[in-house]
Amino acid sequence: MALLVQKYGGTSVGTTERIEAVAKKIKKFKDNGDDVVIVVSAMSGETNRLLSLSGSISDEPEGRELDVLLSTGEQVTIALLSMALNKISCPSKSYTGGQVSIRTDNAHTKARIVDIDVRKLREDLDAGLVVVVAGFQGVDAEKNITTLGRGGSDTTAVALAAVLEADECQIYTDVDGVYTTDPRVVDSARRMDEITFEEMIEMASLGSKVLQIRAVEFAGKYNVPLRVLSSFKDGSGTLITVDRGNEMEQVAVSGVAFNRDEAKLTIVGVPDIPGIASKILRPISDQNIEVDMIVQNVGLDKKTDFTFTVHRSDYKRAKSVLDEVCKKLGAEKAMGDSNIAKVSIVGVGMRSHAGVATKMFEVLSDEGINIQMISTSEIKISVVIDEKYVELAVRTLHSAFDLSAETA
Ligand code: ASP
Ligand code: MG
Repeated sequence: MALLVQKYGGTSVGTTERIEAVAKKIKKFKDNGDDVVIVVSAMSGETNRLLSLSGSISDEPEGRELDVLLSTGEQVTIALLSMALNKISCPSKSYTGGQVSIRTDNAHTKARIVDIDVRKLREDLDAGLVVVVAGFQGVDAEKNITTLGRGGSDTTAVALAAVLEADECQIYTDVDGVYTTDPRVVDSARRMDEITFEEMIEMASLGSKVLQIRAVEFAGKYNVPLRVLSSFKDGSGTLITVDRGNEMEQVAVSGVAFNRDEAKLTIVGVPDIPGIASKILRPISDQNIEVDMIVQNVGLDKKTDFTFTVHRSDYKRAKSVLDEVCKKLGAEKAMGDSNIAKVSIVGVGMRSHAGVATKMFEVLSDEGINIQMISTSEIKISVVIDEKYVELAVRTLHSAFDLSAETA
């Protein structure tokens, strides 16, 4: 008998038939004697539909109102799933984020969880109920509804697993685990039995859309065993842990990730003096815009160019902030390009293997792919390239680093 937190994503609850199928699955665990807390996403496509509704009214809606709107998606699912569970004699109760006191900060549309009061959940679990909690949402100190950022239901699930000290946090989704790369791009991509939190953070942040990065960070921090599984077929999925088995240490690269969600901004001809980087980026971060990669060259003739990437959804705002900065600093011009993609190779094994970066650059150059930006960490190397080459780059790297199922 275990305490499990299970999260079912949008596709798994995409229709009422699927919701009923999920209910049956949950009942099996319950009949087995497990206690289960369920977290659900909005039905697939719903969050996008809500976003486009708001988009047809305003280009820049207030975060507060956007959150009131977006949180309705999950509210629909929790009610339907609880009804489905009750119908098959598996007593259940649904809760919104506010009702179970998932307290967050007030950063609308990207709020962070600060506290969860689990008393009510425990009472319900003790009474034998299946508790169904809306993912992706919380309330701030003033009881304003907040949301946690796209894919935020994963974070809700991990946070609940952490505070409840659950035995495992299981993320049920439309894929059966974490792959060496996106199987839609590379047929021979292989499911990994295990991956480390560190690697998964890199894979997730780079756009291997299996799990929200914040969820993995959270899980790593609180050491919550996290498993990604399919809600449609049986299997053990991929376990995300602190350490992998020995045999994996032989491998330099564990996976190839890519991300089309970024845009590149460049400010040209800025004075090359101390403090310039902060003068450029401060106004960006003041707007709550996250910056990912940053490149600055040593300048000739006391001027330099400064390039960075932001999330594509922040591109317009970032560009207008940068235009202002450009005027203020007397720089030559601010430019932007949203047709870029980031491709990365990831692996804890890189720490003990030399020449991985060189090989990556050679492989790309052999395909005539131009590298626009490079960044590295101990366990990852990322490049920014023209978006139209992303699939070619991923396929080539996947085979160059022997990641395919046949060679594994
Ligand atoms: N419904 C939200 C989204 O689509 C949250 C989630 O699915 O995790 O991003
Ligand atoms: Mg989702």
